Amino acid sequence: MGLGDRHQKKDVEAALKRAERAGLKVTHKQNGHDWGAVVCCPCNERVVVHCTPRSQGNEANKIDRFTERHRNCA
Ligand SMILES: [Zn+2]
Repeated sequence: MGLGDRHQKKDVEAALKRAERAGLKVTHKQNGHDWGAVVCCPCNERVVVHCTPRSQGNEANKIDRFTERHRNCA
């Protein structure tokens, strides 16, 4: 992710950073309520990240679960 691609919710941003460190790809492509996605390239699965989740903690947990499931795919 480049500068300007930060998520405005800090818990979500922290989870996105953990996903990147685990080797997953974070794509920022604003589309309505969607901020972007976390993508696991080897198995081509993705999880959508929302801009203004009702709970940023839940959104971060969702990203962390995806990261844990896919950190060993590559
Ligand atoms: Zn995977």
